[in-house]
Amino acid sequence: MNPLRTLILAAAGNDTIRRLVATAPVSRDVVRRFVAGETTEDAVTATKDLVAAGLSVTLDYLGEDTTDRAQAEKTVQAYLELLDRLRADGLADRAEVSVKLSAVGQALDERLALDNASRICAAAEQAGTTVTLDMEDHTTTDSTLGILRELRRTWPWAGGVLQAYLHRTFDDATALATEGSRIRLCKGAYKEPDTVAHVAPHEVDLAYVRCVNALLAGDGYPMFATHDPRLVEVIGERARWYGRKPGSYEYQMLYGVRPEEQRRLAGAGETVRVYIPYGEEWYGYLMRRMAEKPANTALFLRSLVSKS
Ligand SMILES: Cc1cc2nc3c(=O)[nH]c(=O)nc-3n(C[C@H](O)[C@H](O)[C@H](O)COP(=O)(O)OP(=O)(O)OC[C@H]3O[C@@H](n4cnc5c(N)ncnc54)[C@H](O)[C@@H]3O)c2cc1C
Repeated sequence: MNPLRTLILAAAGNDTIRRLVATAPVSRDVVRRFVAGETTEDAVTATKDLVAAGLSVTLDYLGEDTTDRAQAEKTVQAYLELLDRLRADGLADRAEVSVKLSAVGQALDERLALDNASRICAAAEQAGTTVTLDMEDHTTTDSTLGILRELRRTWPWAGGVLQAYLHRTFDDATALATEGSRIRLCKGAYKEPDTVAHVAPHEVDLAYVRCVNALLAGDGYPMFATHDPRLVEVIGERARWYGRKPGSYEYQMLYGVRPEEQRRLAGAGETVRVYIPYGEEWYGYLMRRMAEKPANTALFLRSLVSKS
């Protein structure tokens, strides 16, 4: 692993650095580039800006790996409050939510996670929008897809995520490319062993393209989450080849990452959804974004040493 990446990931677990990042006035700008803020209000403000620019959004209340029922309940309440605001502010047709099952109790009790996800889906239905279940490390894939299946019995619009790096994903993509099935395809963000996942970046890219084909060939609604310029081009080309019209699939990118490209694609008539993270637990998320991209890291380090 790149030493800078190792350093940044080590900083992710360091309380002193966390306090420094949280309080340094300039670093706040860096945080704000990738995280909408800590409150529902902040999330709604960022949503309004992006919607006004012609983009759609999916909102993620940050936090994961809860082993505490009270924390899981806090997460559910945050989503219920957010969904209520999206409805009240007339944003629900362009703004949905993304949920990590580990944040609503999956590690404690699968039944609790299903119940909590069901409460969020019911609130989303009331608000007039949808929910997508994020995908986490490979030990949770079966459980998450099982919960997705359960949710879809009541809410067929519930979306799932497949990670192209997993060896199993081509089969999952083929099986899930059914009428109305909303599936986000990403490369995959967790450190996985080569027994379950492609590790070489080139292999991951090839696997991603195979899954693009599987999803576009089916009847579902694929949501292609990537910032990779080559893949964005391939997706456009394959979509045309399969006779898919813009709006029968979408692109997704993270808040603050390639914002000009997000607007360019939307300007060309594509549906582009921006994944907006918000909430008090922003630190781990921010550190992962820093570790992903050297340019982000440089921006971040400069902000920490800057006096202004
Ligand atoms: C909307 C969304 C939802 C996601 N949900 C999940 C999930 O549920 N589960 C999960 O495991 N992972 C998820 N991910 C993360 C994903 O798996 C990848 O880890 C992450 O998106 C990086 O992969 P990439 O496809 O962007 O390409 P990378 O391989 O990271 O980058 C490829 C190229 O993209 C360009 N690029 C990348 N980042 C930047 C940047 N910051 N600025 C400019 N150019 C850049 C560069 O040209 C780079 O060479 C999600 C990602 C997105 C966008």
